[in-house]
Amino acid sequence: MKTTNRTAAVSNIANRCATENSVNFSDESPESVFGINSFNLATMKEVLSPETFESIKKTILEGMKLDESIADDVAEAMKNWAMERGATHFTHVFYPLTGFTAEKHDSFYDPSPDGTEAISNFKGKTLIQGEPDASSFPNGGIRATHTARGYTAWDVTSPAYLVENPNGTTLNIPTSFVSWTGEALDKKTPVLKSMQALEKQSRRILELFGHEKITKITASAGPEQEYFLIDKELAFGRPDLLAAGRTVFGASPPKGQEFDDHYFGVIPERVMSCMYDIDRELYKLGIPTKTRHNEVAPGQYEIAPVYESANVGSDHQQLVMTTLKKVADKHGLLCLLHEKPFAGLNGSGKHVNWSLGNSTQKNLLEPGDTPHENAQFLVFAGAVIRAVSIYAPLLRAVVASAGNDHRLGANEAPPAIISIFLGEQLSDVFDQIKGGGATNSKQRGVLNIGVDTLPDLPKDAGDRNRTSPFAFTGNRFEFRAVGSNQSISGPLVAMNTIVAESLDFIASQLEGAPDLNAAIQKVLQEIMVKHGDIIFNGDGYSSEWHEEAEKRGLPCLKTTPDALPVLTSEPVVELFEKYDVLSQQELHSRREVYAEQYCAHVNVEANLVTEMAKTMIYPASVRYLSELVSTAAKMKEIGLAADLTVASSVAGLVSDLEDTVVALEKVHAAAGEDPQDWAKNVLPAMLKVRAVADKLEGLVADDLWPLPTYQELLFLR
Ligand code: ADP
Ligand code: MG
Repeated sequence: MKTTNRTAAVSNIANRCATENSVNFSDESPESVFGINSFNLATMKEVLSPETFESIKKTILEGMKLDESIADDVAEAMKNWAMERGATHFTHVFYPLTGFTAEKHDSFYDPSPDGTEAISNFKGKTLIQGEPDASSFPNGGIRATHTARGYTAWDVTSPAYLVENPNGTTLNIPTSFVSWTGEALDKKTPVLKSMQALEKQSRRILELFGHEKITKITASAGPEQEYFLIDKELAFGRPDLLAAGRTVFGASPPKGQEFDDHYFGVIPERVMSCMYDIDRELYKLGIPTKTRHNEVAPGQYEIAPVYESANVGSDHQQLVMTTLKKVADKHGLLCLLHEKPFAGLNGSGKHVNWSLGNSTQKNLLEPGDTPHENAQFLVFAGAVIRAVSIYAPLLRAVVASAGNDHRLGANEAPPAIISIFLGEQLSDVFDQIKGGGATNSKQRGVLNIGVDTLPDLPKDAGDRNRTSPFAFTGNRFEFRAVGSNQSISGPLVAMNTIVAESLDFIASQLEGAPDLNAAIQKVLQEIMVKHGDIIFNGDGYSSEWHEEAEKRGLPCLKTTPDALPVLTSEPVVELFEKYDVLSQQELHSRREVYAEQYCAHVNVEANLVTEMAKTMIYPASVRYLSELVSTAAKMKEIGLAADLTVASSVAGLVSDLEDTVVALEKVHAAAGEDPQDWAKNVLPAMLKVRAVADKLEGLVADDLWPLPTYQELLFLR
């Protein structure tokens, strides 16, 4: 058999040493590396003067306005700290609407006045504000190229950090990115604003409960990230994986995920070595990664850090994504963050665990053992129920993307219908409230395993439900519809703001009420009567739920083009304007940018389908056909009967391939700026080409097939 890229890649994998590049935590403990590259409070305490440290701590922990007079001191200390660790450059990192991270680097050095040497220079002004020439970022009409000024503003609350490269180190400073006219051009600014809105409204509720001291209330985020790791050499043989992050062709492998043997399975050695390296890099950045495991699909894994403030958690999530890719590459692996890299197998999501709390009243979503007596908790939980019910379409819109459309509702991820899972105990309490008042809470039981040597286990008051898009999981809500490749900022902005609005609503009902408890019962009862239909504890994957949800009048926005218009709908614009999170113009620009991105993604995929069909699959198929036909001709020459069944199947499919490609090209050329064109015409035409190509894959001689197969991509590492 002749050597092809595929066979060469396979033999290289077979000869790999699983642990190359590994880091050894036995030699270097996590404590010794944790946060060494983060300019966090611990670092600041060491390098800043006590007065400067106290001042900046107040800004970070208590939300006081930054005292700009300390900026020079902080800049000097930050620069020295960074340069001692080898930094030569700094960058204001920002988070444009692409969902990725953006950076433009500046050197710390300037030439001396006589030009004979380089002197280091980094002042408070440079720390606080930057002006990248960022005219090429999507802005949805907010800026024309000729009025393209954009500023980056230092976000003191998110620690600066060092990014290492074998050739040097760069200081990264998280920033907000706004236009010359002050509109947000990024994903961070609204997160900060929504946290402010949530803090203000939660405080009103806590004040009603008579707390004497109420420290700054923050929203928290704990994102669980799913991803695939694929051997890089094999992946490089797939133009679709490289350009689109997913396979647009590929027949099902003989073995898939049907044995459930991958989920929580033993982590393969090569992957484990990569995971240690990932954890180490994240520890250095001060990112508290906590869990790691095999996910359902072969080649699929998950990583989750301990939750942090929504803003820091969101910045850190971006770093988790870039670190996964970077470290995987060092290990000869390609990390796929796409929501659906492989048809027929589970896709990847990102569960965003969300709660709110502070240092004095702690987690405000902690029900305690007897939630029916915990009025304060019930108010916050009731606010979430009302918020999700009213703004369900918004929650669907903020997770809309071309990639996530393949996943939502594909019987592996929550449906596109937004509902809340409360669990048995809490559902029961809220049902009691609806009926007139809650008098008891179902108690947690004890689980006897039945083996004498094993202890009895305390049992939770409710089971879990993996099929719900928005689940109460003990002391937080878990938003599970977020896509693996998405920034979590949009979902956080939505959750913070809609809950702020409901807390505002509830606080307004309660303030001045003569009997607080009676008023709470009344408002919660009304919420349950009006919004209780959003609660669903059953199987979200079932077809019965789709019917039931329709009866309840719950919206089901199937695709991104269906969901994006929500962003500029009247209630949503009103909501975000009222809490000063996003203006109408900013919302319009966002909708426009996301629609453009959707079309651009499908466009790239359609290009890939056409090109790969024409230049890879068609040639391989006709070569095989010619082999079959010439063999048959030779057989005839020597008087043997030739069976042409396979040849005619291949010939038929080759002709179908030509037809479906022509049909795709036609709708592709006609698709315009309306995302619906792409969803309704282009995507289905792509699938038709794929159906033919995947059949050919099952017929054409393996040594002629140009693309690494699912079998190779998913199982070889
Ligand atoms: P599971 O897969 O069981 O849902 P994981 O351990 O994978 O759980 O991830 C749970 C995530 O939820 C972690 O990031 C964890 O820190 C986070 N989390 C736990 N408590 C809270 C909370 N009160 N608020 C926000 N996030 C939380
Ligand atoms: Mg998990």
